[in-house]
Amino acid sequence: MHVTDRSLPPDLHRDTLAVRVALERSQYGENSEALYLTSSFVQPDAETSARRFAGTEEGFTYTRTSNPTVASFEQRLAALEGTEAAIAASSGMGAILMMCMGLLKAGDHVVCSRSVFGSTLGLIGTQFAKFGVETTFVSQTDVAQWRDAIRPTTRLLFAETPTNPLTEVCDIRTLAGLAHDAGALLAVDNCFCTPVLQRPAELGADLVIHSGTKYLDGQGRVLAGAICGPSKLVHDVFGPVVRTAGMALSPFNAWIVLKGLETLGIRMQAQCASALALARWLEAQPGVARVYYPGLASHPQHELAMRQQAGLGSAVVSFDVQGETPEAARRNAFHVIDSTRVCSVTANLGDTKTTIAHPATSSHGRLSETQRQAAGIGQGLVRLAIGLDHITDIQTDLLRGLGTLAP
Ligand SMILES: *Cc1c(COP(=O)(O)O)cnc(C)c1O
Repeated sequence: MHVTDRSLPPDLHRDTLAVRVALERSQYGENSEALYLTSSFVQPDAETSARRFAGTEEGFTYTRTSNPTVASFEQRLAALEGTEAAIAASSGMGAILMMCMGLLKAGDHVVCSRSVFGSTLGLIGTQFAKFGVETTFVSQTDVAQWRDAIRPTTRLLFAETPTNPLTEVCDIRTLAGLAHDAGALLAVDNCFCTPVLQRPAELGADLVIHSGTKYLDGQGRVLAGAICGPSKLVHDVFGPVVRTAGMALSPFNAWIVLKGLETLGIRMQAQCASALALARWLEAQPGVARVYYPGLASHPQHELAMRQQAGLGSAVVSFDVQGETPEAARRNAFHVIDSTRVCSVTANLGDTKTTIAHPATSSHGRLSETQRQAAGIGQGLVRLAIGLDHITDIQTDLLRGLGTLAP
């Protein structure tokens, strides 16, 4: 008898994996992956049910534990990151919470960049401090600070690169070496780069964190998150956390992000190309004091970024609007933001629609002025997250404000 093997062959390119990796088709042969919008699964009989609940037989029981649409998203993301496995979460913060609950206990110590996402600072530095986990926050770019902060109780190093909004880049391979010498793990939040630009696991990171809310969905529709890493950690450490703590990803949101992954490559290429062109153009504008973008030769970690990020700078560009005093700089930044008619004024990023934000009064608005200055977030700073709008329209949109700044 002739049997046709329709399983995926080995050694496929990532572009192909992004549109193909998923659980098997159902008996109906759907070409687009099915959305299994169900909270529980009917068992064929009590014996099978018992084995599945005991974990001795594979099979779906309840969506907090697993779901075929969620599993398809997990498999596809792991294939793109080049990790053995992935586990989904209800949001990026849900993924970081899952990681901390799985890895940390009272008495453990964490070393974390002080430039990571604000809610990450709050979760690790404040919420987990209540449970006896101590965290040392260090410079994003000064490796000596990371090395000096490590203690015998250090269990985890946590980094994000490039950072929001100043796009500072850290060296993943170096931090992985420091972590492993200390018997600790390195986790990298890969939200800004996605596996299209940067695969932290290939550079030695143990865990890769995602906010699927950003580029993985890419169209600003849903919240989602994931941890990518070795099967053993994903299944034995994080699986029990999501099953008991319940930060499970909804199948609907998983389906949205699963389909988002299919266009991630072309979106990232296009958005990064526009971002580079816009960053170069901004550097030449009279009203602009400084541009922060890893793709520019003027960026302090330009060479590292180009090596680590597949030669692309990411799609986030920040710039300082000129201003003699902090008040004047803020007035000018607000003028530029309020003069736009195409850009969306929102603190979100990773959308096809270009977004514009004022970090000092949004993402970093809760910091004191001293903390904000230490973080380098000035009142004139404007952050753009470049989408798929035509670049000329974005330039015209920005010029409306930049071209009419008070001298
Ligand atoms: C948005 C974001 C998160 C949090 O993700 P949510 O899906 O909003 O919970 C974490 N890290 C980075 C870098 C982010 O930009």
